[in-house]
Amino acid sequence: MEHTILSDTRILIDLDRIAGNMRAVKNMAGPQVTVAAVVKADAYGHGAAAIAPTLMENGAGLLAVANLAEALELKKAYPQYPVFIMGLTPDRLLPLVVEYGIIQTVDTLHQAQVLSRLAGEQKKTAVIHIKYDTGFHRLGFPAVPKSLEEIRQICALPGIDAQGFYSHLALKDDASNKAQFTAFMEAADALKQMGCTFRFRHIADSISGVDDPEYRLDMIRTGALLYGLKGFHRGTLAIRQALTFRTRISHISHVKKGEGVSYDYVWTASQDTRVGTLPFGYADGYPRCLGNGKGVVLICGKRVPIIGVLCMDQCMVDLTGIPQARVGDEVIIYGNGSDAAPDIQEISQLAGTNKNEIAARLTRRPPRVYIHGDQCAEESRDKREASL
Ligand SMILES: *Cc1c(COP(=O)(O)O)cnc(C)c1O
Repeated sequence: MEHTILSDTRILIDLDRIAGNMRAVKNMAGPQVTVAAVVKADAYGHGAAAIAPTLMENGAGLLAVANLAEALELKKAYPQYPVFIMGLTPDRLLPLVVEYGIIQTVDTLHQAQVLSRLAGEQKKTAVIHIKYDTGFHRLGFPAVPKSLEEIRQICALPGIDAQGFYSHLALKDDASNKAQFTAFMEAADALKQMGCTFRFRHIADSISGVDDPEYRLDMIRTGALLYGLKGFHRGTLAIRQALTFRTRISHISHVKKGEGVSYDYVWTASQDTRVGTLPFGYADGYPRCLGNGKGVVLICGKRVPIIGVLCMDQCMVDLTGIPQARVGDEVIIYGNGSDAAPDIQEISQLAGTNKNEIAARLTRRPPRVYIHGDQCAEESRDKREASL
């Protein structure tokens, strides 16, 4: 029973698709441009530690995360992989950054001085990327002359390897991106005049990395692309969604005309109805707003609506259109484009959000099952055969 999957509700991750997407990004970037594989938020729900080797073996130069806890999880599993924290780390936790050899974002002289002192104490080098605010106004040294002087001081600190200089685009439109890029390059050039050069200057994420080749510089930081989530407009890249979300029918009820289903009886039967219960809910990360007729799932090749209020752990669907449906039948909640189920793109539109949120909000409860290519199709075929 050791490898038994303990739930019918599960998330299948196709490692061949992750590998293919990673190679596509690296090919696009070319040999001169390092790809930072963004695996924050548990790799947008795909499982950071589980997919890290696939990424590193298929072209990633380093793994980028949001915070120290995410970085430590990866460093403990894979001490040899370079891990980069794109957020800030509080002073009191910086000793761990140095101890584990994590690459840290810095946007104050003060934190660089703390890291320099810690590096001296631990007889190590603190590798940093300096963030510069070109207008996103989230993190970064403000774009004022005093900042350049402070960055110059950072570059001269003992025990500090200022490996990177970077910023982040707001992606409002081409003109505003261009203004940010220009401000970034002017700062980088001014720093060069002052004797500070950086191995990695970077500003592009997934969207800009595809759409704006001139913004790739020395590194691109791509998350969405690795998971096959397309956001680009001008450019194009052959990537495929890696994740599918599945379950099986757990129960079937017969609801008489006029009876209600789920909390508040928001849905009542307009005719006698076969109602299927599915063992997933909003605590698995499915948007609660997709209950009550908004969301659909695929059963026996047909789309059926979720009816009534979506509960924390379960929801109900109208099986009227598929009389052959039985308890144990496979249900595709999020398809990956190879079937008629809504994919993450469609779900995000239905829920009024973006694709990254739909993936990242998947919780840890549904087990992640890692597969290669056609295994996914085989799994449902086996199940069908077994139930005949
Ligand atoms: C999340 C993040 C990225 C990756 O964004 P995608 O759109 O998924 O490629 C890049 N850079 C920073 C600073 C981020 O926080």
